[in-house]
Amino acid sequence: MSDPTEIPTDHANPARRRAESVVIVNTGDGKGKSTAAFGVVVRAVARGWRVAVVQFIKSGNWNVGEEAVCRDRLGVDWWALGEGFTWDSTDLTRDQAVAQAAWAHAAAVVGAGEHRLVVLDEITYPMNWGWIDTDAVVAAIAARPAAVNLVCTGRDAPGALVDVADTVTEMRKLKHAYDTGVLAKKGIDY
Ligand code: ATP
Ligand code: MG
Repeated sequence: MSDPTEIPTDHANPARRRAESVVIVNTGDGKGKSTAAFGVVVRAVARGWRVAVVQFIKSGNWNVGEEAVCRDRLGVDWWALGEGFTWDSTDLTRDQAVAQAAWAHAAAVVGAGEHRLVVLDEITYPMNWGWIDTDAVVAAIAARPAAVNLVCTGRDAPGALVDVADTVTEMRKLKHAYDTGVLAKKGIDY
């Protein structure tokens, strides 16, 4: 009998194997990168895993909804460390320092191996802006404890991050309501 919990079911293929953990990257300019990551959080919590979320960008109160429910009701360890840096900030030195502190914390969380799933939400932005060292991030991902699964989100994932990942999905925008003037909606966008 095949194990119905195992997907895909191509048992004949000898190359199939169980990986102890995987690295997922959700990138692209379409909507759904962070919400897909939070979908995985729900799955991980459902299996009794310890889960951590580190957010590298926080725009005002946009994320309070999922932060509160994940932290208070699902027991997820959640750090919104991008708080204080904004899209239009001119205070680059401070923003860079905040991003580096956020990465130092994230690297410690990943390296500690206490969480079986770690989400690095919006991590591509500080990488692309040169605020944190992409090579250092990729090296830490490659050297992570074997049981730590990762989900990284953000537009324009650097090639080295794509290379180290097992699963990479590009959300491509066909349409976005924002383009016709529709404002971000509570319950849908945050
Ligand atoms: P979501 O959090 O909805 O999954 P995302 O993580 O894919 O979105 P981000 O770039 O992190 O996208 O954008 C955060 C906010 O911007 C969300 O409120 C999201 O709905 C919105 N958004 C996402 N893609 C677009 C787009 N192409 N144009 C305008 N707004 C967008
Ligand atoms: Mg996002």
